[in-house]
Amino acid sequence: MLMRGLCLIFFLLFLICTACQKKDNNWFTIEKLDHKTYRIREKQSSQNNSSYLIVGDKEALLFDSGSGENKTGDIKALVDSLVGVPVTLLHSHFHFDHIGNSNAFPEIALPDLPALQTRLDQDSCIHLSEKESLSPETYILKIKKRCPLNTEFDLGNRKISIYHTPGHSPWSFTIVDKRGSYLFVGDLAYKGLLLVNNLEEYQNSLNQLIHLCDSSYQIYAAHGNEDLLYSDLDKIRLALKAFQNTKPSPRKEIELFGNRKEMYVIDGIPFIYDVTGNYLK
Ligand SMILES: [Zn+2]
Repeated sequence: MLMRGLCLIFFLLFLICTACQKKDNNWFTIEKLDHKTYRIREKQSSQNNSSYLIVGDKEALLFDSGSGENKTGDIKALVDSLVGVPVTLLHSHFHFDHIGNSNAFPEIALPDLPALQTRLDQDSCIHLSEKESLSPETYILKIKKRCPLNTEFDLGNRKISIYHTPGHSPWSFTIVDKRGSYLFVGDLAYKGLLLVNNLEEYQNSLNQLIHLCDSSYQIYAAHGNEDLLYSDLDKIRLALKAFQNTKPSPRKEIELFGNRKEMYVIDGIPFIYDVTGNYLK
């Protein structure tokens, strides 16, 4: 009788623990893209974010650390549960919805771009401005590593390259995995309203990726539920080129982060063009 009672108590405790665990992690949804690549979605976040975990035999790279809007769930614990190798965090860019939870990661890398590296203070920290993070919150990132640019480097049986792809923001980066035929584009391309900071740079960045890749590539964006096709990169590029050439009137005014902004739609591509890059104003 006593034994049955104890078993029942343990069973109930097990159920409670399992329920708590589920609740703790339900903010993040994991999608296994292959045995060494994961998409970590935040379907409830205001911007419907995705971060990507790219795993090698020796180390892994987390491309963005989430929106930071999660009240439940722990992206660091989640990432650690998925891999058995050290994880380095790299940001696709510094907007607030990509740098949340950053301080949970002891190893943060900065791409080896001289203009960025010179911004590190004596403690190897980079202080982000409101315009860079699009948030009045103060963000200070402690940088431990630098990642090479424009050349392949090895995570252990998995080589990737990082490219500087400005246009959405001055400090935007894309990861190319040639062997896996993956492209992780951050906010340079996704299905939805694009934010364009620099027209010329945006087109150049897309052009660079179009030449680096081909139609066999999977394009993984940081927002939305729908993946892009390789041909979408050129569609966006051509829409921006047409905009630059014709300077059409805006389709309508919309609200973005509490401010009125002019939205353009060209060949089905919606975007906001803000040369200041400060979409908060
Ligand atoms: Zn962004």
